[in-house]
Amino acid sequence: MSNVRVRFAPSPTGFFHIGSARTALFNWLYARHTGGTFILRIEDTDRQRNTDEALRVLLEGMRWLGLNWDEGPEVGGVCGPYFQSERSAIYQRYLQRLLDSGRAYEKDGAIWFRLEGERYTAYDDFKKQEVEKVRNRPVVIEDAVRGRVERTEEQDFVIFRQNGEPVFHFVNVVDDIEMGITHVIRGEDHLSNTSKHVELFEAFGAPLPVFAHIPLILKESGPGKMSKRDKGALIEEYEQRHFLPEAVRNYLCLLGWNPKDDQEKMTIDSIIESFDFPGINKGNARFDERKLSSLNTAYLRELPLESFCWLARPILNQAGIVAEDSNEDYLQKVLALCQPKARSLETLAEFVAYFFSDTYEVDAKAEKKIHRDANWQESLQQVIAVMHAVEPFSAETIGASLEKAAAEAGIQPFAWFPLIRFAVSGQSGGPDLMPLLETLGKECVLSRLHGLAKC
Ligand code: GLU
Repeated sequence: MSNVRVRFAPSPTGFFHIGSARTALFNWLYARHTGGTFILRIEDTDRQRNTDEALRVLLEGMRWLGLNWDEGPEVGGVCGPYFQSERSAIYQRYLQRLLDSGRAYEKDGAIWFRLEGERYTAYDDFKKQEVEKVRNRPVVIEDAVRGRVERTEEQDFVIFRQNGEPVFHFVNVVDDIEMGITHVIRGEDHLSNTSKHVELFEAFGAPLPVFAHIPLILKESGPGKMSKRDKGALIEEYEQRHFLPEAVRNYLCLLGWNPKDDQEKMTIDSIIESFDFPGINKGNARFDERKLSSLNTAYLRELPLESFCWLARPILNQAGIVAEDSNEDYLQKVLALCQPKARSLETLAEFVAYFFSDTYEVDAKAEKKIHRDANWQESLQQVIAVMHAVEPFSAETIGASLEKAAAEAGIQPFAWFPLIRFAVSGQSGGPDLMPLLETLGKECVLSRLHGLAKC
């Protein structure tokens, strides 16, 4: 165990934004890399927006991504409670200290933080130290990602609103002190708040954590950052679309962090091993749906067949493609055939539909291509004759028969493949053709070939 303590401090909003998830992930990675502690703290001071449902979405998203926390809701810990809404007494105690040292004052019903005055010598004692006028003093932040950043707070700022509720800057700093946070890893949108936070840390006499502000995630195209309305912006959406959490997590690691050798698909253990601040980019990261999808495909193809079937079955049941009590062997056979070619679980139902029913979508482009060959009907008759004669109807014998017939006709056997594939599946691509035909069975293959011949 190291003494590194990091936290993810979301304000539950009802959805789990990809940017928040990436912040949670980077904190988690840093904790796991250093052997430190990962804390989940719920910044729920905005009462209206914080519902049980909003919390549930967040915790579920964290669990789905496999980001387990060492202290926080449900698991507890020595620095609890981990909900800001339950920490009022602590905030009052800290406020009192600022009032005592003259660094907080009341004006127009709100309580303000004074930029100049005395500060405590240490945050756990009551000695105060006179400091020279600090107003207009630049605050220097040695950010672990951004480098040296200077910023001057010009004006005193509110720390408790007129309605008595504490302001984000205040509770955020108090909790970071109380929870012994050593590294603050968060989105770059908070960089502009950091000078206020540093002023508060110093007024309390608390040691500063290391700040690491991580780049924003920009939308797929255009200048703006990913907003919750953009496709792919919410983690719960990936779960609904049956993405594999390992793939999404792998992708999120690459949004603003680069392993030295530019690898993309990496095990989480190797990411944990190499994750550190120098690998985090200064520049903004751009969301790339295609990269995410191709990682997802790669992970999907690598699953043990048993896991693939276990994930696929309920999806196919739900899509109405496969009945709950369908033949298990047939389903297994189809899935074993399709796994190496399937692109996603989201599109799996359409990908396998023709194995289970005679009514399936026909790809118009594939159809056009077939019709472009003036002799397609003639070829179809040749293929039908071959298929009739194949016995037993196995991948091997079908292949051999087609080869033989093609040689006699003076053509390459694969010249017939697109036509056969289209006739039996309505597609131009899919799993390997010979085992596909074997799996469909002779009766089905012949009836579909005849069906096309009648068109
Ligand atoms: N509640 C803040 C947010 O969600 C936390 C900022 C921080 O990590 O300090 O943006």
